[in-house]
Parts: sequence; C-alpha cells; structure tokens
Amino acid sequence: MTNNINFLTGIQDPGLQLDKEGTETIADKFKVIHLVKTGKCLCPICGRPMLKNGFRQRPVVVTALSVAGVKTFLMIRKQQYICKPTAECPETVTKVATIHGISRGCRIANNVKQYITKDLHRNISQKELAKDYYVSASTVARTIDSLEDTFTPEKNWLPATIALDDFKSGKFATSGMSMLLMNPVNHRTIDIIQSRNSRFLKQYFYRHFTRQARLAVRLIVVDLYQPYRGLIKELFPNASIIADHFHIVAQAYRAFQAVRIKVMNHYGHETHEYRALKRFWKLLLQKVSSLDSVHHRPRRNFRGAWLSNSEVVDRLLAMSEDLQKAYDYYQTLVDAVDHGQEDELTTLLKRKLTSLPHRFQKVQRTLRQHQEEIIRSFRYQLTNGPIEGTNNKIKVIKRTAYGFRNFFRFRIRILIALKNSHIMIKDPLNTRKTSPSKLVA
Ligand SMILES: [Zn+2]
Repeated sequence: MTNNINFLTGIQDPGLQLDKEGTETIADKFKVIHLVKTGKCLCPICGRPMLKNGFRQRPVVVTALSVAGVKTFLMIRKQQYICKPTAECPETVTKVATIHGISRGCRIANNVKQYITKDLHRNISQKELAKDYYVSASTVARTIDSLEDTFTPEKNWLPATIALDDFKSGKFATSGMSMLLMNPVNHRTIDIIQSRNSRFLKQYFYRHFTRQARLAVRLIVVDLYQPYRGLIKELFPNASIIADHFHIVAQAYRAFQAVRIKVMNHYGHETHEYRALKRFWKLLLQKVSSLDSVHHRPRRNFRGAWLSNSEVVDRLLAMSEDLQKAYDYYQTLVDAVDHGQEDELTTLLKRKLTSLPHRFQKVQRTLRQHQEEIIRSFRYQLTNGPIEGTNNKIKVIKRTAYGFRNFFRFRIRILIALKNSHIMIKDPLNTRKTSPSKLVA
C-alpha cells in the first residue's frame, strides 16, 4: 500500500496509507486521495514509544502533484500520540504525526515546490506556472523567494577573471540597463546587478564582496564605456582591464552601417545604387577572406551581369569613396581582432582622423583611448561572447516576465535559466541518478 501512495503522490513516507475512503474524483474537476498517517512515534522528552491516542479531528488538506493532469488534493487524517506521566517524563506529552515530504503547517507538498523550482527555467510566466501546478501565483512567488540563499554569491570569493556587461532590463533599473557579472573562463553567471549606474555598482560590490575577494580579481572584461574605468580601479585595485572584442567590433559595425545609409540617402530612393546597397549590405559586412570569388551568378541589381559575391562588393565600394574607406577600416579592425594582430591594430589606430569618414573619427578616438585594453585582450583571448548569447535568453525571460513585480524574482529566474555558478536545479525525476555533490558547480 505504501508503494501505491509513493506512486500516486511522490511522497515517500512509509507511515502514510490509503484511508478507507480510498480515492475519488469530484465533478471531474479534481481528485481527492484520502490518506491516514500513523505508525510508531517516540516521545521527544523520554524517547520511549508513545501511545496512540486517536486521530486529529479535522484532516489536513494538502495540494499534491496533479494525477493524470487533474488537480489533486490529499486529505490526511493524522494519528495523535500521548506519553503518560512517569518518573522520567513527569508531564503529559502529546504529539500529532508529522509527514515526511510535507512541511508542518504547509498546505502544499514539498515535491510540488520542487517541481515549480525546476520549471522556473522554462519560458513561462509565474501565472502560467501557478496554473500548471494548481497553486496560487503567490505560492510560485514564495517558492522563488525561498531560493534567495541559494543564489546569494559567496562573499569571500570572486574568480581571478570576471566580466561585466549590461543588458536591457527595462523597468527594473532607472537607466533601463542592468548588469551581468560573469566568469568568462567557465562562462558561468555569478550574479545579476540591478543597475549599471556607477554609484549603484560601487555599493553593490562593497556590500556583496569582501576586500579580499575583490583583490583576487586580476582581469576584468568590460565594454568601452569610459565612466567605469575609475570605478574599476577603485573596486579591483589588482585588476587589469580587457576590452571586450564584441564591443570593439560593434563600434565600427555601427559606424559602417551609418556610412552606408548616408551614401544610400545621398543617391536617393529609386536609384540603382540605393537598391544595391540595401540589397547586399550583408556582403559588405562579411569578412573579406570568406567572400566567394569563385561562383558567378546573374545579378538583377547589376543589369543581369554575372558576378561573384566578391565582385558585387567591388562594385558597391566603387559607388563612394567614404564607403570604401569605411569598409577598409571595418575589415582591418575585424581582422586585427580576429587574429590578435597587435601591429595591424597599432597601424590602424595611427591613421589620421581627417582621412576617415566623419562617423569613423569618433570610433578612432574611442579605440585609441582603449588601445592598451584592446591589445591586452589579444593576449588573453577572453571575450564577453557568452554574455552576448545570454542576452537573448534574458530577452525571452523578459517577454514572459509581466509577472515580475520585483527585480529579485527576475534575477532568480535569469540565474536559473543561465549557466550559473551557484547550483544546477535538481530534477526531481533524476535525484537518484545524480549524487548531490555533482549538482554543485
Ligand atoms: Zn515521554
């Protein structure tokens, strides 16, 4: 019988038995499993077996995992016990049976909460999750809140290399931007920081990490946002800054697109140049080394001429001197970053500002400012790449996040969805196959 109960409810308490009423389905809407909890019980004072003393009058009603997709309640009658006064145990002791797998005073079985926790990585709102498990939205919220300790970063430890990158978090930060704190070596997320505001960041690191932990940081990967620099020196006095490859290239990428659009508008709508530059923009951003110069196809944009991709690019660049210069700058930068070519970068950054299209002069100035950090990044080949990937995951979470009223729950759901440095969420179905030590990252 006990096995049946375990089978039905997932609750493993050998003292739990099916009651005489058995199971029933009420109005096709929910199932009730009538249970009785009895068995031996030892006196908490003298340690001797207690006497059975009838059942608690009102059975407890507990929400269990649904059975065959139908909401299921457990109606449990609990045994009462008594230890009559003796010399060793002078006062009368009474007790009510407790159930392994259902916390005292709780109306929801523990395994329901475990499943909810496990499901938090799914792209599903708190409301929907609550519906799936036939619990209230506030139960889901409380389940998330209960994970606070699990996801609090270790105060005394930071890895030798950390990465910081911002992401759009909307209403959760006044600037609309929050930050990810990551270990770029093992690509695990350490924490989500609510705001990228300098004062906030400073408070965050002072509050959450000891000086010793901050001193242990040797390398820090960040974007090219100048205001961080002073703060980083203060918070991580032993750390060298590495410019993130993605953000280096992104500077030139945006500038190149701006130049291309300027050229398009210069020619005007309905022109052959406008349409060609619009149609083939991806070819312009493709690395020169990977451009196809072998296969020729007829191109409608070029009056049916048989051209390879490489020849199409040549024709596009011939349309504008600025475009040609922008292309050359962009491609040189991408190549230098890709292959860690220090000389190539240094030569590029020596180009006269006046020789560059207007939009690239700003890029040139920014990159010059961070030259040392960029060259350092060549040596370590560390990037925020994994962070950029996680930005997409966050976007998805945010889309279903209308249920998040506070940042804290948003943060927990992100940490669960990403590879984090806390724990992997236990799959209740797999607990027996995996030892707990393996679950700790
Ligand atoms: Zn006793």
